[in-house]
Amino acid sequence: LLAISGLCKNYGAVSALDHVDFEIEKGQVVSIIGPSGSGKSTFIRCMNGLEMASSGTVTFEGRQIPLSNQRAWTKLRPDLGMVFQDYSLFPHLSILRNIALAPVLRGRATKAEAQDRALALLARFGLADKAHAYPVELSGGQQQRVAIIRALAMNPKALLFDEPTSALDPETIKDVLDIMLDLARNGMTMIVVSHEIGFARQVADRLVFMAGGRIVEQGRPEDLIARPQSERLVEFLRHLA
Ligand code: ATP
Ligand code: MG
Repeated sequence: LLAISGLCKNYGAVSALDHVDFEIEKGQVVSIIGPSGSGKSTFIRCMNGLEMASSGTVTFEGRQIPLSNQRAWTKLRPDLGMVFQDYSLFPHLSILRNIALAPVLRGRATKAEAQDRALALLARFGLADKAHAYPVELSGGQQQRVAIIRALAMNPKALLFDEPTSALDPETIKDVLDIMLDLARNGMTMIVVSHEIGFARQVADRLVFMAGGRIVEQGRPEDLIARPQSERLVEFLRHLA
């Protein structure tokens, strides 16, 4: 589905990504871990063009996206739904409008279709009674579930998560992880930056460890955790535990 080769991103003299190669097939779940500043956010932001990589190639469904072609990225972005740590809901719009807005703006649905779909998704994830509430009236976990629903409303081909549970209280983390597990088990392609190792163990096909802008190690989650090869991963896992 998505193939990345030799991806580099420099911020001035800082090399945030240093020749990263990566692939994900349809239906796979890949979890990404790594210390702060290792380039995880930069990496997933370069996958959907929120950030422009300095060099390398990004190929989506067999088509290479020219790094500087903003129109190509804008067209691609709805197919790669993104969920951020801080939810990023529009505060002045109701939950229903938060979810139904983009599909209409992007011409993917009529207003009625988008609303029906939004209501169905809210019901599926236990938030039907919040349709007419505003983000500020919801808990963090509820807002994050809405953010996931908003990404799903575009019918994306993959979802990208950047630390989706790290701003939440322990009690609500589970609600968000449950949705993510549900999506993973139902075949959604997902790239998940998260230190929730339990999630990786349960559903990730592959765990990727980044450090210093590179992929240092990757493999099946249980293998990587049980037998880390690099000193950096050993050290990182020690701090997680
Ligand atoms: P965290 O776990 O703290 O979220 P991360 O792995 O997501 O870290 P990035 O945010 O991708 O790391 O940052 C990678 C490197 O790029 C860091 O050295 C960071 O300081 C630098 N960086 C990221 N964004 C910018 C920016 N907009 N301008 C300058 N430097 C940046
Ligand atoms: Mg980050």
